[in-house]
Amino acid sequence: MDMAEEQHLLVVNDLKTSFRVPAGEVRSVAGISFSVDKGRILGIVGESGSGKSVTASSIMQILVSSGKIKEGSSVVFEGEELVGMKEKELRKIRGDKIAMIFQDPMTALNPVFTIGHQMEEVMLLHKRTRIDVLIDPQKRQLRDDETALTRLLAARKDLEDADPAFKEKAEGSFKGEKDLRAKIAQDKVDLEIGIKEAKAQAEYERTVAHDKYHYEFKRLSFALKNALRGGVVERRQEASRYSNEKQAALRLETKHLKEKAALIFADAKRLHVQEWAEAIRPLRTEIVLVGTPLARRQALKEQIVALNKQYSVIVKADQAVYEKTMKEAGKIYAKALQDLRVEHKARLKQMRTHRKVAIRTAFVDLKDNYETYRASFGVTRYSAKKRAIDMLILVGVNEPEKRMKQYPFEFSGGMLQRVMIAMALLCDPDLLIADEPTTALDVTIQAQILELIKDIQKKLGMGVIIITHDLGVVAQICDEVEVMYAGRIVERGTVDEIFYNPKHEYTKGLIASIPGQDATKGRKLHPIEGNPVDVFALPKGCSFGPRCEKCMKICLERYPAERKISAVHYSSCFNSAVEDVKTGKLSKEDFMAYMNQGFVIDSVNGRQPKEGRLKQFVKWTLLKLSFQKAQSAPKATPEDKNNGKEAK
Ligand code: SF4
Repeated sequence: MDMAEEQHLLVVNDLKTSFRVPAGEVRSVAGISFSVDKGRILGIVGESGSGKSVTASSIMQILVSSGKIKEGSSVVFEGEELVGMKEKELRKIRGDKIAMIFQDPMTALNPVFTIGHQMEEVMLLHKRTRIDVLIDPQKRQLRDDETALTRLLAARKDLEDADPAFKEKAEGSFKGEKDLRAKIAQDKVDLEIGIKEAKAQAEYERTVAHDKYHYEFKRLSFALKNALRGGVVERRQEASRYSNEKQAALRLETKHLKEKAALIFADAKRLHVQEWAEAIRPLRTEIVLVGTPLARRQALKEQIVALNKQYSVIVKADQAVYEKTMKEAGKIYAKALQDLRVEHKARLKQMRTHRKVAIRTAFVDLKDNYETYRASFGVTRYSAKKRAIDMLILVGVNEPEKRMKQYPFEFSGGMLQRVMIAMALLCDPDLLIADEPTTALDVTIQAQILELIKDIQKKLGMGVIIITHDLGVVAQICDEVEVMYAGRIVERGTVDEIFYNPKHEYTKGLIASIPGQDATKGRKLHPIEGNPVDVFALPKGCSFGPRCEKCMKICLERYPAERKISAVHYSSCFNSAVEDVKTGKLSKEDFMAYMNQGFVIDSVNGRQPKEGRLKQFVKWTLLKLSFQKAQSAPKATPEDKNNGKEAK
């Protein structure tokens, strides 16, 4: 294994997957090999039934019970062989390190559970320990550096067939490779140290959290008990005490007001009486002294009566003022009492709210402590919820907290696919497999989702496999492409090589059938003629032969071996070799050697009728052949009939 291979995230080697069916065995994937690197997007493209999704299921090891990965197949992920791995071990990788986005989000999600519940479930099922969380920075650093090296190596590979002068010039930009390799080695050492430190840290955190939680639990439970039991009585007592004090103060105040008014009135009365006495005294003295004449005495008497009247009016006015003041004081008292009652109610309410808040805060504190304690062991529902919300924000779902409480049917197709992506990213996977992620969506949403996958891939630096039948999707986001037909990879290479220099006839057909390439009015689309090959009756030569316009005799006899077109481009097609030898790109010796390399496809995919069905099988085959013969025979014209008669 060279250094470049060491960097591969996933290496699939000679993968063969078959399914048992009533008629025998069908091989859906027939020995494919490819690799995926960190930070790269690989597109697997082909028609329905070409084996793309079965490849993804084989990598994930989620085949249906009738499916089986054949002996000799190998799927190595991060240096670990997945084929034959125990289910318990696989569960740690599946969904955690390798995540998958399925074709139709509506059927992939459970309709009776909320989105939040399903997302939290993923986290809880693939519990990440505290150690995993602590070593995340070191892991990410290593992943980033490995991705940078992969990109550098890929760029160098692209230049392998370039002009030597240009190559020499470009060599300067690869000088960083040595430093990068040294940095990766250092990252690995750091990661090892980080794991040891994280273990110690996790143990320490667990002990501290345990003690703190138990202390807090006791303290808060005691406080809560007090608050819940004595709270109501205490609250009423406190409010009543306040109210009583206020009322007493008011009463006193009113009393003072009234006393003050009475004093003022008494003072005024005394003053007036004094004034009256002083005014009336000389008049009385004069009456006593005068004695005569009668008229003068009468006049003095009248003066005294008038004076009495005048002062009684003044005193009456004072009395009215006094009474008015007393009334006012009563009113003020009543109003103050009313205000006090309102204040009392508000105060009671405020006290109740304060107590409620205090109790709630105590509960939250307790819960937080509990969560910290639980988090020291791994993921909790609380932390899972937080992570789910973060992921929904990352994929552009608005109001994530509200959305978490909704069911799948409340989402649009695009939003649901975003949720699926968020769900796949929950455990921070190293490899993301997206199986036709945009098939169920309309064109505008398709573009958004593809852009989103590309963005996230750049941000997180993971490897991505996009499975699609749409070459437009491949052109938009992929770095490399594998073209599959009838369970085999017929062509592979970088996106530029495949689109601008396709070699296999099937790839050429796929590219020609992309709509919108030539906007000439009246131009018809160029579909690939014929139907996908019957997997039960594969030809022994090239599987695409029955549909290929360039099919030669050799194509029907042998399956073409893979040929290196350039350092980043491989194809399995006899015609491409013929074309290259004509243009001088391939020497005659190499051409002859290649043409002899082909192999004959075995009959595993053919029907293997069991005893008892053999008769029926032979009968149907003969019937089919005779029907085909009758169809292909030229129809006899009246002239032919006459000629026949004459001949007789
Ligand atoms: S090998 Fe032959 S049949 Fe197959 S694609 Fe090439 S030319 Fe066509």
